[in-house]
Amino acid sequence: MTVDAHPDTGRRKAELAANLAALRGRMQSACDAAARSIDELVVVAVTKTFPATDVRLLAGLGIRDIGENRDQEAAPKAAVCADLPLSWHFVGQLQSNKARSVAGYADVVQSVDRARLVRVLDAAAGATSRRLGCFIQVSLDPPGGAGRPPKPRGGAEPGEVSALAAAIASAEHLDLCGVMAVAPIGADPRPAFEHVVEISANLVREHPTAGAISAGMSGDFEAAILAGATHLRVGALLLGRRPPAR
Ligand SMILES: *Cc1c(COP(=O)(O)O)cnc(C)c1O
Repeated sequence: MTVDAHPDTGRRKAELAANLAALRGRMQSACDAAARSIDELVVVAVTKTFPATDVRLLAGLGIRDIGENRDQEAAPKAAVCADLPLSWHFVGQLQSNKARSVAGYADVVQSVDRARLVRVLDAAAGATSRRLGCFIQVSLDPPGGAGRPPKPRGGAEPGEVSALAAAIASAEHLDLCGVMAVAPIGADPRPAFEHVVEISANLVREHPTAGAISAGMSGDFEAAILAGATHLRVGALLLGRRPPAR
């Protein structure tokens, strides 16, 4: 790669380094308040809409986990970054017909929310001889149903988690990691995160090694740390503002 030859690369690297240092400072304060160690936390840098050159710079700054939410964008980015020591987390809603592509580069799918996806991901991982970590995405929005709009962001109902976990745990090529959630937009995230932590506690009773909790984004990661999150999915705070979601 010749990215270092780009005149703006040094400036962008300094910007990302400053953003990362600020994030780590705020994470440390939240950990102090929660009497937790920052070493328990994994930062998944969500690089959607940003170029592969940013992924490369983040890797140089010590980031090891990258999050993407669209296969069309993630697949080529992961391909040009294949030389880097990174774990790729798919965090977006995943259509079954994209599962094979995603299983070709992702190490973790954080958005598993239905049994059909479990079957398709297991088959796809098996076909590429890879193992795939899975988080069950839990919906914290009010239930959909008659008269209500469909769920905007996917996710299983809390009552579906146990059956999905059993399906993932018994799949040959999948590893059950834990739960993932996105807090409802525009509301206090704390009750939502407390609910996820409670769901996680129930899950861990049946699956002791599935204790990961992916919760918290740029706007609410401190509340997630206080609640007990293990994985923070941080985009804008690290990389800058994105154009509005498509
Ligand atoms: C975009 C995205 C994030 C990161 O959001 P920021 O607010 O930019 O930190 C986290 N999780 C998911 C599922 C996302 O799609």
